[in-house]
Amino acid sequence: MPIYLDNAATTRVCPEAAQAALEAMTEGYGNPSSGYALGQAAAAALKEHRAAVAGRLGCAPEELVFTSCGTEGDNWAVRAAAEYGRRKGRHIITTAIEHAAVLEPVKALAAQGYEVTYLKPDRSGHVSADALRAALRPDTVLVSMMLVNNELGTLLPVAEAAQAIRDAGSPALLHCDAVQAFLKVPFTPAELGVDLLTLSGHKIRAPKGIGVQYIRRGLNLRPLLTGGGQEGGLRPGTEPTAQAAALAAACAAWQEDYPARIQEVKEYALESLSAVPGLEIISRGDAPHICAVSLPGYPSEMLVRELSDRGVYVSSGSACHRGKPSHVFAALGLPKRTLMGVLRVSFSPESTRADVDALAGGLTEITKTRIAAR
Ligand code: PLP
Repeated sequence: MPIYLDNAATTRVCPEAAQAALEAMTEGYGNPSSGYALGQAAAAALKEHRAAVAGRLGCAPEELVFTSCGTEGDNWAVRAAAEYGRRKGRHIITTAIEHAAVLEPVKALAAQGYEVTYLKPDRSGHVSADALRAALRPDTVLVSMMLVNNELGTLLPVAEAAQAIRDAGSPALLHCDAVQAFLKVPFTPAELGVDLLTLSGHKIRAPKGIGVQYIRRGLNLRPLLTGGGQEGGLRPGTEPTAQAAALAAACAAWQEDYPARIQEVKEYALESLSAVPGLEIISRGDAPHICAVSLPGYPSEMLVRELSDRGVYVSSGSACHRGKPSHVFAALGLPKRTLMGVLRVSFSPESTRADVDALAGGLTEITKTRIAAR
């Protein structure tokens, strides 16, 4: 078995989700739009799966739309919110450490004339609510802030952002990328006070190819795609019934004590990794499953390769930015040697202390056999 410590990139599908997908694909395979019994059974199952996800998220099933992934949800939220507020203004606030799925559509809007304020993190990877308060303007139409950063594991002040928007009487919609937060940290969309919230299945042991978009009741958004009337016309395309079944099963299989279990393994990792010669802890992570470290002078890509040769898998930062230093670590203002040696370690309920021992042992071995660059 590989030692997989890159669970922020993706997770191994849990048996319950795989079984649910298999059954939906081979038995309940009707098209939910078909009027005959097989189709109607698929429609009924989809309704149940939506209710199961809504139950875990803490919202009404009608507030959820199934999408293809977190990237689709983030893109949709940013574009649709800008469109929604087009008569009110052209100012957007986001953070410098959002995922590319938010930053890229924001960049596209900037090219169309929107003004963008990027809130910068401090050295620990935290963004201040006061900075957001100061950045709000009467023409701000969108604030997009993630709940848990995917490379640092830090928590961002989303509920405080909602309060700031309310206090300012701002027309801005608040979008939250909660892809790394769902099931790992406690929240509901109502507690956060968000208008839009994005989830992705493959981070919580469901397969790739399914996301969920929360849209606050009463908010009328333009769809990203046009076509048939599925998902109330908001997300046309034949519904991903097998993926939805798997997502609902993964939610049901996620046990109450998982976050504490994951946190315990991470604490052990932070302690063990501190003993690796030269290793620096970059972020302990507020969320239970992500931390980041660096071996200054050892390029991340080399470390990832050498660890991979030993059957240990970690990331050199976000898996979406292979090859170049991540904008998230760059935003922390780390010295270049530290920046180039960053590793993200991320855990799942399956992670064990033995996995951590293999990682710490592998890194120690590398420091003994390879000389650090100056
Ligand atoms: N947002 C965050 C914070 C993520 O970590 C990811 C995935 O890495 C995404 C969005 C994109 O999700 P997906 O891979 O489902 O498109």
